[in-house]
Formats: sequence, C-alpha cells, structure tokens
Amino acid sequence: MLIDTFGRVATDLRVSLTDRCNLRCAYCMPPEGLEWLPSDEQLTDDEVVRVVRVAVDLGVDEVRFTGGEPLLRRGLVDIVRRTAQLTPRPHLSLTTNGIGLARTAAALREAGLDRVNVSLDTIDPEKFKTLARRDRLEDVLAGLEAAASAGLTPVKVNAVLMRGLNDDEAVPLLRWCVDHGYQLRFIEQMPLDAQHGWQRTNMVTADEILERLAEAFTLTPLGAEARGSAPAEEWYVDGGPGRVGVIGSVSRPFCGACDRVRLTADGQIRNCLFAREETDLRAALRSGCDDARIADMLKATLLAKRAGHGIDDEGFLQPTRPMSAIGG
Ligand code: SAM
Ligand code: SF4
Repeated sequence: MLIDTFGRVATDLRVSLTDRCNLRCAYCMPPEGLEWLPSDEQLTDDEVVRVVRVAVDLGVDEVRFTGGEPLLRRGLVDIVRRTAQLTPRPHLSLTTNGIGLARTAAALREAGLDRVNVSLDTIDPEKFKTLARRDRLEDVLAGLEAAASAGLTPVKVNAVLMRGLNDDEAVPLLRWCVDHGYQLRFIEQMPLDAQHGWQRTNMVTADEILERLAEAFTLTPLGAEARGSAPAEEWYVDGGPGRVGVIGSVSRPFCGACDRVRLTADGQIRNCLFAREETDLRAALRSGCDDARIADMLKATLLAKRAGHGIDDEGFLQPTRPMSAIGG
C-alpha cells in the first residue's frame, strides 16, 4: 500500500504525459508559453506503463492522464490501451482542454478510457479568446460533444474563475452545462501559475461562487457521504438530475482526505501538487532498476507527504514547477 504517516492511502495516480499545451490559460501560463521539456527527458510510453503497473500493484485503482495537454501526446491511445489491460484494471480518466478530442474520443473510449474532464472556463467566444489566448472555443465544444457521444460519461467540465475575466460566467456556464448534460465543477484558482501572479485577495472563492449560483438556482447538497475523498462538494441544481461541484482547494482544503500521488512527464514522483521535493524515478528507471526499487521509491515518497498544502502558512512558498508541468 502507498500509505503516509497520517494514515492516508494513495489510490489515485495522476500521470502527466507532457508539459506542452496549445492554450495559454491566464491562470496557468504566460502568453508566450514556457520552455518545454526536451523529448528525451520525458518518460517513454513503456516507462509510463511500467510505473503505472507497479503503482497498480501497490493499490492504485484510479489513473488520470493529464498534462500540459495530454491529447498532444502521440502515444496516448496506446498508453490508455496498455493500462486498461492491467490487472486489476484501474479506472482510467483524462483531463483535457478538449482540443482534438472530437477526433480522438471514440478511439480513446475503444482503448479503455472510462471518463473525461474537459476544461472550459466560459462559453463566450470573446472571453475564451482573452482567457485562453487562443480562438479555439469551437474545438472545445466539438470535443465535449464527441466525448458524450463516445460514452465517456459522465462528462465533467472544469472551470476556473478569474476576477475581471470570467467571474460573471458562473451562472451562464452552469445553465449551459446542465442543458447539455455535463457536470460542471468550479475549481478555486491555486498558486500554481508559471507567472507567480496569484494573490489570495484576488481569488474568486468557493463561497463567492456559491452565492452567485444560489441567486439563480436552487442548490441541494448531495451530502458528505457522496463526497468521500473527492475534493468537490456537490449540489443538485434545481432538484436534479443536473449537479454542480465546487472545489475549494484553497479556502476549503481537503488535504486530510487526499488519496493522490503524481507522476510528472519527466518521471518525478510528487506526493502533493504543492510538494517542494520530488523523487527522481526517471534516473532509477534508466539505470536499470527492478520493479521492487520503483515500488520502494513510490512508498518512500508517500511516507514523506505533509499533512496539508500549507497555502495559509506564513512560510508558504509556491512550488517552482507550474501546474502545467506537474499535471493538474
Ligand atoms: N490541459 C488540460 C486541461 O486544461 O484540462 C490538463 C492540464 S490542466 C493543468 C488541469 C486542470 O488544472 C484544468 O482543469 C485547469 O483548469 C486547472 N488549472 C490550471 N492552473 C490552475 C490554477 N492555477 N488553479 C486551479 N486550477 C488550475
Ligand atoms: Fe493548457 Fe490546461 Fe494550462 Fe490551459 S490549464 S494552459 S489548457 S495546461
């Protein structure tokens, strides 16, 4: 088992398949993009599948592929197919900006992908262009439709609100998602932007989002038992079946129930989004280590997991790696 000193067990592995992206969301990256990892520093498809296999042997039952933009990873369908063949078979999901999903959703489903989360922060084309700094809203909407038709359901939509950019979008976005049968989850903006421009005082809080939603909808809580270790608190919208989630990562942290562990595209294990230390699995893999060594490194990294992200602590330091290079 992957257990830490607080008794939390990691069963959810987040695998970043690339740090590259075709959008430049303002809360994530600067307009000019970032210096991408050289390809030889990225884990190969075989290395990724091997680490997932060892993690599954250690009790991981949920694997989420992310990035950067995971649809930019050439071997994605094959990686999904190979991880779907592991025993016991983990639940497989993908977090994507949706660009290119219209072309790949059916193949991903056929390869064994169970679900997708598509990030969409606004349905207003002008706001999309300003926030994501690319005119690609139509591609994202086509990707969402394709995911639903391919059976990658329930299709979840992730949204981050930024003050002055799309903070007036909470109600229209939820109405649109409910009408289309997508489950919307708002995520509080975290200090993980490459620009290090995040300010607590400027963050649109979970309370604020809920206040706005409550003015337009009747929200009925799903209840704590439905939440489990999932970070989203969820509500039925106007009696259901539509629902909405709010992930108050900063103002309502769920670190006490965290069951996640992360693998970056360059083969570093992280026990937290906000970890300040990483374990270099790639070096071990490339020096010919056996599976037992990979397992030991995963276990040791988990043992060192801190109680919480510490964003409110006086000495909090934002990790050097941005979200796009960790894997959200
Ligand atoms: N490119 C894919 C996407 O956008 O879905 C996958 C990677 S992205 C880093 C994963 C998730 O992290 C997205 O839902 C995105 O909105 C979210 N995200 C990125 N930067 C964030 C930040 N600073 N705070 C909160 N969420 C963030
Ligand atoms: Fe790309 Fe996702 Fe970051 Fe947006 S949030 S820039 S889509 S990695």
